[in-house]
Amino acid sequence: MYLIIIFVKKLAIILDVSLLEDLTDKKFVVCPAWPYVNAVPHLGTVLHLLSADIYVRYLKLRGANVISATGSDCHGTPIEVAALTEGISPEELVNRHHIQILELLHTWNIDLNYSKTANSFHYQWVQDFYRRCFENGFIFSKEIDQLYCETDKRFLPDRFVEGTCPHCKTPGARGDQCDSPACGKPLRPVELISPLCKICGKPPVFKSTTQWYYNFGAFQEELTDFIHRNQNFPDNARKFSNHILEEGLQARTLTRDLAWGIPAGPAIPEAEGKSIYVWLEAVLGYVSASAELGLRLYKDPDYWKQFWLDQDTRTIFFIGKDNIFFHTLLFPALLLGTKDSYGDPFVLPYNVSTTEFLIFDDKKFSKSRGVGIWIDEAAKLLPTDYWRYYLAATRPEIKDTSFTWPELEQRVNSDLNDVLGNYIHRVFVLLHKYFEGKIPECHRLDATDREFVSAIHTVPESVADNFDNFEFKKATSAIIDFARTANGYLSSKEPWKLIKTDITAVETTLYLCVQSVATLSILLSPIIPDSATRIWKVLKQKGSVHNQLLSEAGKLKLNPGSEILESKPLFAKIEREKIQKQLEDIHRKQSKKTKKVKKLPDRRIIPFKDFEKLDIRIGTIRKAEKITKAKNLLKIRVDLGEEIGERQLVAGLASFRNAEELIDQKITVIVNLEPATIRGVRSEGMLLAAVEGKDLGLLIPDKDVSNGTKVS
Ligand SMILES: [Zn+2]
Ligand SMILES: [Zn+2]
Repeated sequence: MYLIIIFVKKLAIILDVSLLEDLTDKKFVVCPAWPYVNAVPHLGTVLHLLSADIYVRYLKLRGANVISATGSDCHGTPIEVAALTEGISPEELVNRHHIQILELLHTWNIDLNYSKTANSFHYQWVQDFYRRCFENGFIFSKEIDQLYCETDKRFLPDRFVEGTCPHCKTPGARGDQCDSPACGKPLRPVELISPLCKICGKPPVFKSTTQWYYNFGAFQEELTDFIHRNQNFPDNARKFSNHILEEGLQARTLTRDLAWGIPAGPAIPEAEGKSIYVWLEAVLGYVSASAELGLRLYKDPDYWKQFWLDQDTRTIFFIGKDNIFFHTLLFPALLLGTKDSYGDPFVLPYNVSTTEFLIFDDKKFSKSRGVGIWIDEAAKLLPTDYWRYYLAATRPEIKDTSFTWPELEQRVNSDLNDVLGNYIHRVFVLLHKYFEGKIPECHRLDATDREFVSAIHTVPESVADNFDNFEFKKATSAIIDFARTANGYLSSKEPWKLIKTDITAVETTLYLCVQSVATLSILLSPIIPDSATRIWKVLKQKGSVHNQLLSEAGKLKLNPGSEILESKPLFAKIEREKIQKQLEDIHRKQSKKTKKVKKLPDRRIIPFKDFEKLDIRIGTIRKAEKITKAKNLLKIRVDLGEEIGERQLVAGLASFRNAEELIDQKITVIVNLEPATIRGVRSEGMLLAAVEGKDLGLLIPDKDVSNGTKVS
């Protein structure tokens, strides 16, 4: 089989016909997973957006009619909880990050149709969508018991509740998932052992409420058939989907008792006051963002229909391996629920490009521990083309992949600088040196020339082949291999020697070399758009390199006699130690900043379990004396009852009380604070007092209680 393919490919080259499918005017919607907007994306989370951007640029080179649809995923309890701790509204938090991400995507040349779910257009679109599903009978209601906080007067879905994981018994598990790396099981709030309200820290109660469900079970057969028929899905997506289908599709809750979300009322009249669960509205953003695009660009409210309601459109999803279910089963089931209420049925996903995880130096990305690089930091460290190249060349397509500094250094210094940059620069310099910057004539070709011409002819197709299979790593290395071949060709021809004896041979060599540079520029344009543009400009070619066609990239199209511009080297070598140091500086500055910011929320709300950690007792002062050389400090001995015994404290009381009048005074003491040595005197606790101006009141119980009594 393999030999036949090689034979057919060779034959195609000889006959100069393309084996690539003609994609001219073929419709595509490219849909990268929507980043959750609680933070700026890091190198791992930007991967889907970057992959989609590269793919869109590639499809345009193929002449396809392509749009993209993505944006910030704004709802859900993590955002609401984060906003609550910062003391701002969810809108404020979301908008701040969304605007920042938009700017960063621009810096990264990620040129996608980027919207957000917290926008009125998406709200209305989703509500209208579910109204149709409701009318078609796919949404039903059920009364269930849920956790309710009587203090905060609200239900506690997802992350509004924490408790002990019923599976691994780890405390601090959240209402939607256990955070323990070894467990990580999805949870429902009611499953938690000893749950506590995340807002006030008190234990919640059960309260019955009505929720609405989407009846996924109704689509069991259609989806089984869909997965079976769709031959494009990669193995992991197919296997995973089949596994879920074998277990049987269950109804899923569509509504939540949350204020931050899309109101369900306009879709389902009785569900007034509920909101639509984030997962079941964010995926619909692929369609709503397409609709928004049509309105913005063409004032056409039906623009999206020519893509989403045409069975020939190819919808392509760039997602992480943990998101397969939502794209191969959940999203299609939702689309099927509208039946033909939009006129025609929706086109179901054509393909998903799933990636494994990108980790950082073998660790998980973590802002608080300073592990990882975020895209704002990356843009400060190196030109974004370097990062784009690195991520494309190491894309985790088969297994989890770890970012490493030596690999970054090697990719930039060797691939970009030594192979690609060096070759292109050499060609430009020689053209200026021998031919005053003019492209020379091509003369008779010898065997080496012909071999090189054949390489120029065939490279676009092999790169396209890789992109069509979502093998970005292979596409990238095919381009670099071609540059290596070109470098070898130039060196073997030794024009610097031949220039004295055979000028026509040198003309032919440099004619072919500069053609190959144009080829490289087009092939590189999806991956490193800035650098490709720079090459194109030096070649003084008409239009933008991004409007070229891949089918023309292997042709010798530059005209002899036309001039090229002077140029500078495209890339520069990097030193990883230097960059690592810069990153550490950035992280240090950031952690100082966040420490400052964090003071505010800390004063607002702490979880009950933090308060519980304090051991506060009643005691009686037995001894008190001034500490020499310290004006304000008293050394005190406190009787804290049988269990704890006597403790020595240092307290700043001297300017408020005489030592003598404190003897036999009842006080309140935190006894489990870390001991401290103050002015050489050890202090094993802290007494509680309220200070107002120049006055001080000691905290004492209003009834006499015995020493050692716990305060709670
Ligand atoms: Zn667990
Ligand atoms: Zn509460």
